Amino acid sequence: MSDRNPSPAGGPLVEGPRDPEHDATASYALEPDYVASLTRRILATTGQTVEVQSPLNGAPLAHVPQSSADDVAQAFARARKAQLAWSRVGLDDRARMLLRLHDLILDRQDEIIDLIVLESGKARKHAFDEPAHVALTARYYARTAHEHLDTQRKLGVVPGLTRVEVNRVPKGVVGIISPWNYPFTMALCDGLPALLAGNAVVAKPDAQTMLSALLGAQLLEEAGFPPDLWTVVAGPGADIGPEMIGRADYICFTGSTATGRLIAEGCADRLIGCSLELGGKNPILVLRDADLEKAAEGAVRASFSNAGQLCVSMERMFVADQVYDRFVDRFVARTEAMSLGASLDWGLDMGSLISQAQLDTVTRHVEDAVAKGARVLTGGRARPDLGPYVYEPTILEGVTPEMTCFGEETFGPVVSVYRFHDEADAVARANAGDYGLNAAIYSQDGARARALARFVKCGTVNINEGFSATFGSIDSPMGGMRQSGMGRRQGSEGIHRYTESQSVATQRLIRFGPMLGMSDRAYAKVMNANMRLMKKLGRP
Ligand code: NAD
Repeated sequence: MSDRNPSPAGGPLVEGPRDPEHDATASYALEPDYVASLTRRILATTGQTVEVQSPLNGAPLAHVPQSSADDVAQAFARARKAQLAWSRVGLDDRARMLLRLHDLILDRQDEIIDLIVLESGKARKHAFDEPAHVALTARYYARTAHEHLDTQRKLGVVPGLTRVEVNRVPKGVVGIISPWNYPFTMALCDGLPALLAGNAVVAKPDAQTMLSALLGAQLLEEAGFPPDLWTVVAGPGADIGPEMIGRADYICFTGSTATGRLIAEGCADRLIGCSLELGGKNPILVLRDADLEKAAEGAVRASFSNAGQLCVSMERMFVADQVYDRFVDRFVARTEAMSLGASLDWGLDMGSLISQAQLDTVTRHVEDAVAKGARVLTGGRARPDLGPYVYEPTILEGVTPEMTCFGEETFGPVVSVYRFHDEADAVARANAGDYGLNAAIYSQDGARARALARFVKCGTVNINEGFSATFGSIDSPMGGMRQSGMGRRQGSEGIHRYTESQSVATQRLIRFGPMLGMSDRAYAKVMNANMRLMKKLGRP
């Protein structure tokens, strides 16, 4: 699509009135037939639609059909039926579909990236991360399916006579509620292990970025997954969310801590499980022995990817006294060299924020900090000349606890730099506050940095990298400590959350009670002697 519809950096994608349905001379940024082929995947019968516009330039992208409570009920009913059949499909067949999805995603990367950029406004190079992350997730779970899901033998209470196996039984229908910031991968990546484990999914992507999520649903079907196994519903989270929680067997939520708390309450009420991937106020520690060029390059990527609208993005930077000035000079220079804009083309270092609401929050945080005495080392301005919601990458110094951006997540391209004298103090400051999602440490001494990482209260810690090393390593768990979440995506935890473990024990020859006329007292003695023996033999 980008080839058919090129746009200069910051230039308009379309001209003309905003409602092409009623004006033959108007045009969408996307072909209406293409949009319809996606939106018809939403299970919605209300007849109501919500217009979505591109943050690149305000051009209409789609009128998204809205689901009712009955539609959600219908989606779950269909999913339940599909799940029954799906749970009988062999694991190798399911894994093959994931590998087909992997290839489809790589083949259709341009189409996927176009949609992501049109809906989110992010730079093309940041949109690239999304199909890459989904493809990595698909390949990882396909190739490790047996490792995670095969029935496993366990130790029986009586060696040789109690055979114990643990099965991984699918939960049933999983509800996935996802945000707008990484609209393709956040809508899809958590669902892939759910499908592989034998579940069906009902997904509610964010209203602003439905098309990317719907393209994901279409690709799943093209990869061979049965149609009702992945159903998409649309509408306001506050209306649709509780309807989903009321019917799901498990909820996977990614979004803000405030909404996560509501989801946890709803799930607790029904005694169903949930995983919550929430916000962060993520710190980087630059130690005195860091490679400063590498640290400055990493800091730019970690702070300004997707204009900072990234859960694992860095908003606080603690820099050793000895290297503070040299590091900050490099960080500021690299930030000032970034190319900004709102465009579908490659070549931008940072794109637009997604909405006026995001622009307002970022502006408010920076104005509040400046009014209370913070210094702007670079950035600090909106750039309407480049796009309606473009905001300069911003580095602040002298941020203090009474400023909003000291502890609250900005979720924008704003980072505060702080000086530290001793590493224990830096770790304590990094650990301050309620969040604990992601951290980074820059040091040329890997062992020292890894030792320090153990004291950082975050679910992921990247050494000499900002976030991509953990985010891309699908074999290891990812998620938040404290108010940044519950549960983990990726790795075995990322798939086991969608299963119930079921222990099946088969007992042979003896029973658990006196045999052959033995008294209860004699039986107790034999059992005690047996337990002492087992301990002596080193048995767990
Ligand atoms: P949000 O909580 O407002 O919305 C996220 C999703 O929840 C959307 O689909 C929304 O429609 C839905 N929702 C809203 N209210 C709901 C309710 N009452 N019940 C059920 N669903 C509801 O979050 P947001 O502002 O869209 O996203 C940004 C936040 O997400 C940031 O805090 C960011 O850090 C976090 N995030 C975390 C991760 C992670 O992996 N930890 C990833 C991406 C984003």
